Amino acid sequence: MSDQLRDAARGVLPGVRADLEALIRIPSVSADPGARAEMRRSADLVAGLFRDVGTPEVDVLDDVPGGQPAVLARYPAPAGTPTVLLYAHHDVQPPGDPAGWVSPPFEPTERDGRLYGRGSADDKAGIAAHLAALRAHGGRPPVGVTVFVEGEEEIGSPSLGAFLERHRDRLAADVIVLADGGNFDVGRPAFTTSLRGLAACVVEVRALEHGVHSGGYGGAAPDALTALCRLLATLHDERGDVAVEGLASAEPPAFDYPEDRFRAEAAMLDGVQLLGSGSLAERLWAKPSASVLAIDATRVADASNTLLPVARAKVSVRLAPGDDAPRAWAALARHLREHAPWGVHVNVLDADLGQPFAVGARGPAFDAAHAAFRQAFGEPALELGNGGTIPFVSAFAGAFPGAEVLVTSAGADPDSRAHGADESLHLGDFERACLAEVLLLDALATAG
Ligand SMILES: [Zn+2]
Repeated sequence: MSDQLRDAARGVLPGVRADLEALIRIPSVSADPGARAEMRRSADLVAGLFRDVGTPEVDVLDDVPGGQPAVLARYPAPAGTPTVLLYAHHDVQPPGDPAGWVSPPFEPTERDGRLYGRGSADDKAGIAAHLAALRAHGGRPPVGVTVFVEGEEEIGSPSLGAFLERHRDRLAADVIVLADGGNFDVGRPAFTTSLRGLAACVVEVRALEHGVHSGGYGGAAPDALTALCRLLATLHDERGDVAVEGLASAEPPAFDYPEDRFRAEAAMLDGVQLLGSGSLAERLWAKPSASVLAIDATRVADASNTLLPVARAKVSVRLAPGDDAPRAWAALARHLREHAPWGVHVNVLDADLGQPFAVGARGPAFDAAHAAFRQAFGEPALELGNGGTIPFVSAFAGAFPGAEVLVTSAGADPDSRAHGADESLHLGDFERACLAEVLLLDALATAG
């Protein structure tokens, strides 16, 4: 490795750390309509930081109706080199109950090698890592660089699709580095190479025109809630595998998720069994899951001796990489209609969709990233799936199908408690992630 680059990366860290702390001090909570001024202040600070590095073209963009301010900072590509898009987001989750925090959420505080504060890991560290990469190259990266710092990731990126459409020419890139993933352990880098998708609906069961006396009619007339429960029970087979026909599964991952760790993280009670079959990583990342998130029916406190005419449930199905969300939603709706017991009427409403994602063909950027992160951490990078759905990843992958997409971590790990109280960033892994990005830009200049 170039010692010069390593020294340069080390040299820029104190400044980058100070800038990260300044970013954390701004409560850029995108979900809070009262925080519009803070969102703007946060975007302006981000833009100023990239201007100060010497980025030739820097804009705060809020030209998509209903969108939050985003920052776009661009270096043209030197002849013969690729363009790399570096993504992070400057908005954060609400802090929740301040009493849950050891130190105030918007006052960055170091304890035991971790930097505490809302957004420290998710995802202001990503912005800081991109700054470090540019600064260590003296403000003149060896490849074309487009930095895109979104302002609405934490509310599900509602206007990102329109934004990508409007600014397609300025965002086009050969390699896309999304620094908003997480490592699996401290000291070990990881790339997120697959995400599950989502197909959720509300299913409504109607059994009677109106409620009737449960003593007078029960035993012969079905109630809607019992019918709904029987219908929901058909979503799984006896082992707990999803029984909806027509959903895809992906190749089982090589990764081994330790069961003890999973049980602890999932907060499972003693004696409660794991659902489904296959390795844990396969169940979480490569197969669909089905969950009932909510039910509308009479509350226990309001119960009377009445057969319920109607009941509703929200059903959420996570989709394996390679599946298609609209097709999967149709399969779910068909299953619910076809499995209704006793001839009750079923309506399937409210499609809530998210496409799954999987890294496609491995290219030169992927290899370069493995080499850079291995050098920076002294450990090979893991390739992880994620059972959740991150809208911006599939949005970028869909908008730029020719680009290699890398989902990296700027130092976030399971102890970071993203979205929870006492969010923190492991400073050692943050340093290593900054160095890795410095090396990656260098390697991409000559890769492929
Ligand atoms: Zn994030």
